[in-house]
Amino acid sequence: MFVAPYDMPPWRPPSEAYSVLIRATRGCPWNRCAFCAMYKDVKFQLKSLEEIKADMEAALQLYGSEVSTLFIGDSDSLVTKVDFMVEVLGLIKRYFPRLTRITTYTRGRTLARRSIQDLRTLKEAGLTRLHVGLETGDPGILEYIGKGLTQQEMVEGGKKAIEAGLELSLYVLLGIGGERWWEEHARGTARVINQVSPHFIRFRTFIPVPGTLMHQRIEEGEFIPACPLTVLKETKLMLENLECSSTLLSDHVSNYASIEGELPQDKERMLEELGEIIDRLEGAPQLVKALQDRHRRVNL
Ligand code: SF4
Repeated sequence: MFVAPYDMPPWRPPSEAYSVLIRATRGCPWNRCAFCAMYKDVKFQLKSLEEIKADMEAALQLYGSEVSTLFIGDSDSLVTKVDFMVEVLGLIKRYFPRLTRITTYTRGRTLARRSIQDLRTLKEAGLTRLHVGLETGDPGILEYIGKGLTQQEMVEGGKKAIEAGLELSLYVLLGIGGERWWEEHARGTARVINQVSPHFIRFRTFIPVPGTLMHQRIEEGEFIPACPLTVLKETKLMLENLECSSTLLSDHVSNYASIEGELPQDKERMLEELGEIIDRLEGAPQLVKALQDRHRRVNL
């Protein structure tokens, strides 16, 4: 069993694999998304500056002072008071003076409720990048998965973050529309992304986690998970509808295809790659099944 040397965030984005991990809060203040079990057993809490300072002492011993990137957990640091985060960022910079990137998770609704001035203050205090789960842009699916977010909030919040000078990573959950709503998911998500034009679009693929409402819906036959071919067709339809300037990444082990590139310039190349994979799978049910089996074994 892994024993954390201090109170580390239990989750971080894959792109933060080499970052110092510091926890300013514990848990998720929303904790109601039907697909998510990340913080199910954690009561949302603000940590004290003394606790964070003690973590930073331990992190300094572990990572050294030359590190260049740091991630702040848990799931929605921006729900805290701006003054608190400014103090946390000040501490971080004192302990790790060579950082060039400081990132955190937040929610689209939290961003929509923040003023641009608040976000600018955080940017000036050292925050550089936000990781935000959009999951889908379709209003019906957003409601079905209990995301606690509307299309409008995501667009408003995302635009504010960018206007404040922060980099924005939006996470898309491929397959979350299942076999029934994959086209709505693809089109609705592209619609929201086009209005925001985030710096990064990051694909993940839905994996039902035991103990979640989505898992229960599947067990009861209410929700039919999308098969790999459907997910790839959905990805292609989404990409066809994307009209934005963003870096598209598939930086997660759950994905069926590693489609990556710059939008808009690499769009045709990525569509061709997806088209070839779809053509190959369409005549090969055994390959689809192998992908499905591999996907089931992914350990989140
Ligand atoms: S997906 Fe994010 S916002 Fe939703 S419950 Fe999980 S951590 Fe909280």
